[in-house]
Amino acid sequence: QLPRRPLVAGNWKMHGLRKDLVEAEKICAATAAGEAGQAEVVICLPATLLISAAPACRSAGVGLGGQHCHDEPSGAFTGDISAEMLKDAGASYVILGHSERRSGHNEGNESVREKASAALRAGLTAIVCVGETRAEREAGEALPVVGSQLTGSIPKKSTPESLVIAYEPVWAIGTGLTPTLQDIAAMHRFIRERIDVDLPGIGDRIRLLYGGSVKPGNAADLLGVEDVDGALVGGASLTARDFMAIAGVY
Ligand code: PEP
Repeated sequence: QLPRRPLVAGNWKMHGLRKDLVEAEKICAATAAGEAGQAEVVICLPATLLISAAPACRSAGVGLGGQHCHDEPSGAFTGDISAEMLKDAGASYVILGHSERRSGHNEGNESVREKASAALRAGLTAIVCVGETRAEREAGEALPVVGSQLTGSIPKKSTPESLVIAYEPVWAIGTGLTPTLQDIAAMHRFIRERIDVDLPGIGDRIRLLYGGSVKPGNAADLLGVEDVDGALVGGASLTARDFMAIAGVY
C-alpha cells in the first residue's frame, strides 16, 4: 500500500447541465472497471448536479465534491451553500480557495480557513488551493507567497484525511502553460515542509496535488514528480476520455 493514495480530482467549474451527467457516469464506469488503477477519483461538479450524480458515484467508489462553501452551517446568506448542504447532497470533498474564487469573489486566506474549518465540521475533505501569479513568480516570490497562503488558509485541526492541498500556479490554469518539472518539485517539497511546520508531524501524510493545464499528454510527466500525489484537473475533466487518460497514469 502506498503511503499516500494518489488522488485525481476534476473541477468542472461552471460547466455542466443534466445532459452532461453522461460524462460523469462514464467516469464512474471507467473507475469501477479499474481504469484509474491505484488512484482515488473525485469529481467536483456544479452544486445543481450533485444529487443526481451521487448514486453512480457511490456505487463506483468515485468521490463527489463541491467547488466552494460558506463558513456558516445555515442562515440568511442568499445564494450561498453550506458545507452541510454539500454533504447532504452526497459530497465528501469541497474545493476551497481556488484562484477563481480568491480573485473573483475576494476570498482571502482567513476566509478560506474559515470555510475549510466548516468543511471539517461537516465531515468533508477540503481541497485547499494555493498558487502564485505570474508577476509573483517573475519577482522570485512564488515560495513565500504560497507559504503565507498555506499558513493563512489551513485550519490547525486539519488531518491527512480532512485536508488536501492543490498547488495551482494562477498563470498555469486554463492557459496550456505549466511550470518546469524542477519548479513543481521544488514547490511541492517546500509545501510539504511548510505543512509539517504548521501541522507538526503530518506533512508526510498530506496529499499534494498539482493543478494547472494537466492534460493526457503531460500527465505522466507531471504526476511523476516527487511529492506530487495527484492532480486537480479543470478543462480536461469535462470529458471522461481525457480525465480517465490522466487518472490512468496510476
Ligand atoms: C483548475 O481549474 O483547477 C484547473 C487546474 O484548470 P485547468 O486544468 O483547465 O488548467
